[in-house]
Amino acid sequence: MKITKIETLRLAQGVTVHAGPIQWLWVRIHTDNGLFGLGETYPHPAAEEAVVHSSLAPRLLGQDPSRIDALWMSMFEAISYSGWAGAEMRAISAIDMALWDLAGKAANQPVYQLLGGASRDRIRTYNTCYDHLSFLTEPVELAASLLESGISAMKIWPMDPIAKESGGHSITAEQLRRGLEPLRLIKKEFGDRMDVAMEFHGFWNLPCAIRIARACEEYEPMWLEEMLPQDNLAAYRELATATHLPLTISERLMTRWQYRELFENRAARTVMPDISWVGGLSEARKIANMAETWYLPAAPHNCGGPVLHAASLHLAANLTNLQIVESVRRHYADEYTAIVGELARPREGYFDLPPGPGLGVDLAPGVFKRPDLIRRETIG
Ligand SMILES: [Mg+2]
Repeated sequence: MKITKIETLRLAQGVTVHAGPIQWLWVRIHTDNGLFGLGETYPHPAAEEAVVHSSLAPRLLGQDPSRIDALWMSMFEAISYSGWAGAEMRAISAIDMALWDLAGKAANQPVYQLLGGASRDRIRTYNTCYDHLSFLTEPVELAASLLESGISAMKIWPMDPIAKESGGHSITAEQLRRGLEPLRLIKKEFGDRMDVAMEFHGFWNLPCAIRIARACEEYEPMWLEEMLPQDNLAAYRELATATHLPLTISERLMTRWQYRELFENRAARTVMPDISWVGGLSEARKIANMAETWYLPAAPHNCGGPVLHAASLHLAANLTNLQIVESVRRHYADEYTAIVGELARPREGYFDLPPGPGLGVDLAPGVFKRPDLIRRETIG
């Protein structure tokens, strides 16, 4: 099997999801036996598309697509002068995802089987609360509605509006109390029945983060996510030693080399790579394997598009050190169905093992009929 064509697709008008219109870039890797693999990245598809065609396609055309690790290194070599992150690494991520999809289709197996098989029969998920109910104004109603559908873990970010007030540089006792009110109310109503993860989006400085972390302690949240920006992992070590609560970072770290710094600084208790950014399924798996050597679990970041969602479930099915996988109810139940058709919903808070072959997901016919579809090909 040889790679014959690299195709990219994107929708100029974007797709309206929780946070407004989002544009994904989809990559399809075509081969001489008629099979193709599908991958995805975002959120700057014009830039990612340019990298795919100008810098990476020449490394792929004519090559054997089953040599995923070697192709990854070849692509990394093509862009490594420019560092770890940005459109270059996102483009690699989408291609790597497509190569795994292709490998699964060629073997007529779901991708998790190629990764080493399932390590569990079902996959626990937590809901990231981009929901129709607001965690700021209706936290108890939101938690109740999740519990009703069997979901017993949720992620909220009630301190973000407070960070906007002070720039994250200071916090008063009143702001601290007000910001933590949704967490307090959920735990008061449901106690241990609902695990609550607290997300901070890197908005705080170190002294504020320490104060907030200590104030969270009485509620025992599942974790504290990205309290600081991710660029100084030694500062995270100080934060980690100031609280007994587990920290997690981050979808904003790229490649195994940045995660090495996280591990060596003991900066987090859970790692959260995003397959569509970190360097693909290959890289996310390597990072999760590295975490295992530090006796740490992984919780794949899955707040992007529908192909990422499928890839995250395949990875989660396989990882021996999975903690839990992220998902967004509004995505799989509603907003993604026009793009990829019906998606499985969790039952009692768990997803079934994902279908194959490959990633088991494809773009719906409606995508190809959209007038704003931008399609580009590089042919070998
Ligand atoms: Mg996050």
